[in-house]
Amino acid sequence: MMFLRGLCPHCGRAKIFHSFWGMNEQCPQCAIRFAREEGFFAMSIFLGYLLMALPIGLVALLAYLLNAPTVWHYFAAVSTAVVLSAPWVFRYARIWWLYIDEWLDPRR
Ligand SMILES: [Zn+2]
Repeated sequence: MMFLRGLCPHCGRAKIFHSFWGMNEQCPQCAIRFAREEGFFAMSIFLGYLLMALPIGLVALLAYLLNAPTVWHYFAAVSTAVVLSAPWVFRYARIWWLYIDEWLDPRR
């Protein structure tokens, strides 16, 4: 599962991120540039919206099943889920976009 491990979509041998927030500009193994052009990762923002539906949906469902007494309890639970999952969503939205881009337009 190269995608889940955050490995390069082209060679699958090196990590896309060198730290939790820090992303390599190019692959340390095969030297492809991850951002092909200016604004390359703008599409990952849209994917981030889709990915964020997962923690929001799960926490809202959990709050519903646990009979959250007021709408503010829902709001607090969902807000906490958004804040806690935001770093993971940021990472995986970018990784997801890199894989989609490589699939649509493979590099030689
Ligand atoms: Zn690579």
